Amino acid sequence: MSATAGTSAPPKVRAATTSLAGCFGCHMSFLDIDERILDLMKIVELDRSPLTDIKHSGPCDIALIEGGCCNAENVHVLRELRANARILVAVGACAITGGLPALRNKLDVGDILNEVYRTPDGVGSNVPKDPELPLLFDKVYPVNEVVRVDYFIPGCPPSGDTIWKFLNDLILGRMPRLNHDLMHYD
Ligand code: SF4
Repeated sequence: MSATAGTSAPPKVRAATTSLAGCFGCHMSFLDIDERILDLMKIVELDRSPLTDIKHSGPCDIALIEGGCCNAENVHVLRELRANARILVAVGACAITGGLPALRNKLDVGDILNEVYRTPDGVGSNVPKDPELPLLFDKVYPVNEVVRVDYFIPGCPPSGDTIWKFLNDLILGRMPRLNHDLMHYD
């Protein structure tokens, strides 16, 4: 991993995280590493992340992606992270397959919007048309259909222990390995 701190401080791994079309459950799971986050922050500094509220990523070592791509803004954010991150990781079912948001993929997106924004009298719909809203896609796309992905961490969400083990392996230069205990969902 590259050094990003000054000469007097030990080098830290720079990591970014983002939530695209996800529910933030994977980020909540990341926080489930509990007090171990204090150890992690000794060797990692966060770039763009909901945890820092930094809006744009800079060069970083690792980018953790939660959620798939359901709109144009998701793609913009994802491509910015791919351009800046040495290692990009799809975290959770939504990033890997589209997950729950992709359940709408077999339906017509116009029909869905009209149903969701139906007026109280049931006759018309008030679908938001603000030009600042990102363009909604007809389908929800997994991350690897938009950019190259280096690693996948399955689960909905992956457990805090799973994320912890993965990050430890990666940061310490080992091939990340998740054994059965970290990969079963029953
Ligand atoms: S994989 Fe599960 S927990 Fe993670 S964002 Fe998707 S629905 Fe939420």
